[in-house]
This record gives sequence, structure tokens and C-alpha cells, in this order.
Amino acid sequence: MEFEPVIGLEIHAQLLTRTKIFCGCSTRFGAPANSHGCPVCLGLPGALPVLNRAAVELGMRAALALGCQIAATSVFARKNYFYPDLPKGYQISQFELPLATGGHLALPGSGVEVGLTRIHLEEDAGKSLHEGFADSQRKSYVDFNRSGVPLIEIVTEPDLRSPSDAKSFFTTLRDILVTLDVNDGNMEEGSLRCDANVSVRPAGQSALGVKAEVKNLNSFRFLERALEHEIGRQTDLLRAGDRVVQETRLWDAASGRTAAMRSKEEAHDYRYFPEPDLPPLQIAPPWIDEVRATLPELPAERRARLVRDHGLTRDQAEQVMRGRAGLTEYFEEVVAASVPARAAINWTLGEVTRTLNEADDQVDALRQRVPPAALAALVALVEQSTISGTVAKDVFEQMYASRESAATIVDRDGLAQIDDADALEVTVREVLASHDDAVSQYRAGKHGALGFLVGQMMKATRGKANPKLVNELLRKAIDD
Ligand SMILES: [Zn+2]
Repeated sequence: MEFEPVIGLEIHAQLLTRTKIFCGCSTRFGAPANSHGCPVCLGLPGALPVLNRAAVELGMRAALALGCQIAATSVFARKNYFYPDLPKGYQISQFELPLATGGHLALPGSGVEVGLTRIHLEEDAGKSLHEGFADSQRKSYVDFNRSGVPLIEIVTEPDLRSPSDAKSFFTTLRDILVTLDVNDGNMEEGSLRCDANVSVRPAGQSALGVKAEVKNLNSFRFLERALEHEIGRQTDLLRAGDRVVQETRLWDAASGRTAAMRSKEEAHDYRYFPEPDLPPLQIAPPWIDEVRATLPELPAERRARLVRDHGLTRDQAEQVMRGRAGLTEYFEEVVAASVPARAAINWTLGEVTRTLNEADDQVDALRQRVPPAALAALVALVEQSTISGTVAKDVFEQMYASRESAATIVDRDGLAQIDDADALEVTVREVLASHDDAVSQYRAGKHGALGFLVGQMMKATRGKANPKLVNELLRKAIDD
């Protein structure tokens, strides 16, 4: 019997606010342990939370970009559980009435649409540290800097059918959140985290199987590998006539396996009830419109526009967008400076990217050294056949190093292309005289030999000869 996996994801994204969600403490990562705390985020008796408006707006940005409906009224609730990194004994989250519902995300290239169940706001817990201390054998430590940092939780419908689609969803979502300035996309620092609900069922069956929740999937690769392992494990159980138990499992990257962590808790285990210290969150339409007006162009729209407006291939659009921050804008400014898009994209993905990688520079450095207009002037010299494409690459390198204009470098170094047949005459004779073999091969009908001779001409003129003219001259000289 064939089995089909059914996957849904829950993604926690830390919102890029300066301060925590219910107090004025800093959210900065990497500060000394327990240096960002106050009575509110440490849960001291009598301290009252005040909602951070910036956190709400970032949540709204994500919700609007993903096509969700923002609730006119959403309600914060207490999710009660005991853990040492949660001093209040409850986490403030949203339960029955979340910030937003619905929405969807299309996976690029596959046509798969993944529905979103909800997006809600909540606070993060502190962090338990079990390693790195002399007495780690006997003790754990707690750092409360993260306690009260604002999060959104994005929950998908169980619409994913393969580990690779799950990975594609997560990468696409990350790109969107980073583009929106909602999240920094940094999975190593834990500001973007993913859990997965996985079940398998006989192919063609519509009822869902029993699911396991897999936690600790903090890289794209781990997400894919953990899902592959978990789907295999559940399929083996069902094939053997056993049952899958509903539970929470932890991915262990070292062993490449998931292991049971605890039996899956149900919502009622958390005794959710409305947070009495916070009024319901009211969001009126004008506020939604205001936030919507500030949304940037999203990756899918941008990709489509680059293909439509500049005739890029999908792959080129993808590559330039995946390049360093600001590379797409740079490319578009080069085009705006009257460079044909085809030449502009070749330069951007070729010499420009290679140089940035070699120097490990950002696009800001590129803009200072070779502004879009300066690159446009260089490309124009090639288009007018003043210099060859090969020479242009060297000129670009010099422009990057010295910040001089292309014209200055070409004039000073005498790099202009040799377009004068008379000026090339002597070199043509020399090249032919010293490569008898190639000449006879060409005469014998091996046309490839001409390419070799052209190469020798370019070498002799340090790339300055006009290749088209060289071709003609060589052919004429041999045929004569
Ligand atoms: Zn605080």
C-alpha cells in the first residue's frame, strides 16, 4: 500500500522591534545574560503589561503581505504551564481570537498553494542553559533576556505533501518576512524557528492520520531531513500493522532521527483564559490601510516584474534577487541609465557579483566605487565598439579599484579598440606566418582553425583588436 504524508508547519518569528512586547526592555541579541529585565518581563507580582504598538504593526505587515484577514478585535490569553524559563507561570499569547486568519502562500515554480490557518501575537519565554558551566552536571541556568520578546506564530493548514515543499514554504516565507523588515531571518540566533505536524495516511484516503509534532527544526536542511525521517518512521509503523502515537518529538541532528519527547498536550491542558491585564486589541480599518500602504514589493511580485519588464529569465531574476542586498536595485538603475537589460543583467551577475564576492563588499561599496551611471558609461563603450568585451572587464576592475571613469582609463591606457584595417595588417601577417599548421587546417576545411588564429590576434593586440574585423582580415589574407 502506498502512503502519503500530510504536513503542516508552525513558524515562530521574532518581530524586529527595539523593545519587548509588554515592557520597555531592549530586545537586542547577545547582551550579557539577564541584563534586559524588569518587573513586567520577569513576572513579578503586581507588574502590568502594556502592549507595544510596533509589535502589532509588524504582525499586521506580515498578515497583510500573506493575504490574511486582520481581526477587528483580537484577544490576548494566558497559556498556563510550568517551566523554569517562564517565571509568570503562563505565556501571554492569543488563542480563540488571533490577530489574523486565512491567507495563503504560493510555492514558487510549483503552483502549490499553502493555506494559512492563523497568525497570532505572543511573547517569547526565557532561555534555559544546560551546558557550558562548571556545574552543568547538576544545574541549569536561566537567561531572561528573551523573556517577553515579541513573536508572531504563523500556522499553516495541513496542505504540504512533501519534505521538499515544506522546505520551499519555509524559505519563501523567510524571504517575505525579511523583505518586510518583520524578522531578521536569523535561524542560528533563534529569531526564526519551525515546528512541523506530520502524519501519513494511505494514498487516496481523505481522513488524516495520527500526527506527531516535530520540534527543533532550526535550519532548512534539518526541516527537510527531519520530515523525511519522520515520514519513514510512521510509514514503517503502519506497514507493520502498528499505530502512530500522538506525541511531540524532538529532532536530533547528530543522529539524524526524531525521538519522543512527551505525549502531545491538548489545548485544554493549558487552561487558556483571557488575559485580564490587557484590553482586547482593536484594529480599525484606517489603521490597516495605513500599514498596507507601507508594504514593499514582495519577492514573488518582484520576480514577476523583472521577467515581465526587463525580459529576464526566471533564473536570472532569481539569481539577482538572491544576490547581495540592494543588487536588484543596482541592476535596475543601470537599466534606467539606458543600458539594454540583457547587457545590464550579464554585468550584474557576472563581473559585478564576482568582484563583490572577491572583495567581500556590500552593494553600498559598489555604489561608491562604480555608481550605476558609471557602469552604464562603460557598457556604452562596448556597445559602440570603442572597446572589446574582454578589455571592458579589465576596465571595470580598474574602475572598482581607483573609482576613475571608464573613459579616463581607456584614454590613458590606450585601450580603444583597433578598428583600422591598416593598423592590423602587420599583425595579421605575423600571426599567419607563425602558425602555418592552423592556416593549412583552415584551407583543408577545418573552420575551427580560424578561431584559433583570431585568438592569437587578440593576444597579440592585448584584446584591443575588433574581433569582427580580425575575422574578415584573416579570411581575406588566407584566401588571397
Ligand atoms: Zn522588561
